[in-house]
Amino acid sequence: MTKTKVRACSAQELLDETLALPQEAFQWHMLSNDPLFERYSRAQCTAIISQGEQIGRQYASEVLSLGMGVDEVLKHYAIDYDEQTKPIAADRVIFAQYVEPKSITVFTDTLRKYQQYREVHGAAQDISGSTVRNVLIAHELFHYLEYRDEQTIATRNFRITTHRLGPITLKSKVSSMSEIAAMEFAKVWLGLDYSPNVFDVLLVRPYEPDAATVILDNISSVYHQQSLTA
Ligand SMILES: [Zn+2]
Repeated sequence: MTKTKVRACSAQELLDETLALPQEAFQWHMLSNDPLFERYSRAQCTAIISQGEQIGRQYASEVLSLGMGVDEVLKHYAIDYDEQTKPIAADRVIFAQYVEPKSITVFTDTLRKYQQYREVHGAAQDISGSTVRNVLIAHELFHYLEYRDEQTIATRNFRITTHRLGPITLKSKVSSMSEIAAMEFAKVWLGLDYSPNVFDVLLVRPYEPDAATVILDNISSVYHQQSLTA
C-alpha cells in the first residue's frame, strides 16, 4: 500500500486547529458520513442538523434535571457500565461502545494514551482524562436513551426523501442525526464550551499522528465545501 504524504502538524498545532473549528464544522462532517449525503439538499442538511441539536438538548435537560454526577446517572438508568483496556480492532481504535439494551464500555487504553500524550506534549492541559471519560460515557448514554425511546425519538424515525422518480419517492434513514444529537447531548449535559467532537481527532493522535491530521483536514474540507455552496 502506498501512503500519501500528510502535512506536518505538531501536537500543539493539531490541538489549536481542532479547538478552533466551530461545532457546525463537525456537524457537517458527521452528515457527510451518511451514505446518501451527496443526495441531500442544503435545506435537508440544515434541517437534520437543527433537529439533531434540538433532540440532544432536550435529552440533556432530562438528565440535568436529575442533578446527579455521571456515575450516579449511570446507576439511575441501571446501565451495566464496564471499563476494559483493549480498544484496538484490526484497523481502528474504538474509544467506547454501547450494546443494547443497557451496556456501556469505555476502553481505558484510550484514556491512558491521551493522559501520556498530555504529559509529554503539554497540550490540552485543560482537557483532563476524566473529562474525556465523561464525554465518551455521555455519548453512549444518549444511544441508550434512543433505544429506550425508539418508537418515538426522531433520530431513529426520521426519513428523508432522496430519490424521486415520477410518482415514486424513496425514503432513507439518516444515521448522522443520531450522532449529531449524541454530541449535542454530551456538550450540553457536561457544560463544555467546545465541541465534544474534538476527541474524534485528539484521541487518535497518540495512536496515529498522521491519521489525526487527515481526520482534521477532512473535517475542515467538508466545512469549507459546504460554505462555498451556501
Ligand atoms: Zn455514536
